[in-house]
Amino acid sequence: MTCVIHKNCLDEIFRHAQEAYPEECCGIIIDGSGCQFVRRFQNIQNLLHEEDPLRYPFSASIAYTVDRAEAERAFTSIKENGQILTAFYHSHPDHPALFSEEDKAAQTVFGEPEFPNTAQIVIALCGGAISGIKCFKWQPMTKEFSECRLKVGVIGDCKS
Ligand SMILES: [Zn+2]
Repeated sequence: MTCVIHKNCLDEIFRHAQEAYPEECCGIIIDGSGCQFVRRFQNIQNLLHEEDPLRYPFSASIAYTVDRAEAERAFTSIKENGQILTAFYHSHPDHPALFSEEDKAAQTVFGEPEFPNTAQIVIALCGGAISGIKCFKWQPMTKEFSECRLKVGVIGDCKS
């Protein structure tokens, strides 16, 4: 299994991860009309954590939450424009690029993923510098996200 991410998108998600550091960043990679582009999401984890620390014990440095309305707007636009949700991405500041149990929980409902064909990209940072990137995909047989090969594409980049 392979996930192809274009060079411009890779640069953009690395930039996002570095700008958000020491907090986690999150967003999606979309394919449409023969090119690929990044849509950044806001990580609202700190807002939730400040409002309700019991329900949201983690700050944005070790967790992320996407505003559901923002995500729904993006998913609707993807559908309306006949595009493909290629990947979700988020960063792990000063943690390795593993797909954690929390990550799995965030992407599944009753053990099943909401987007079984969408790749999951995790970017690791160490002291603010990019230290790793890994890609995971849902395996229906094992009901786990397992690592897949990340291939960097060089053609078909969007200039947006
Ligand atoms: Zn994570």
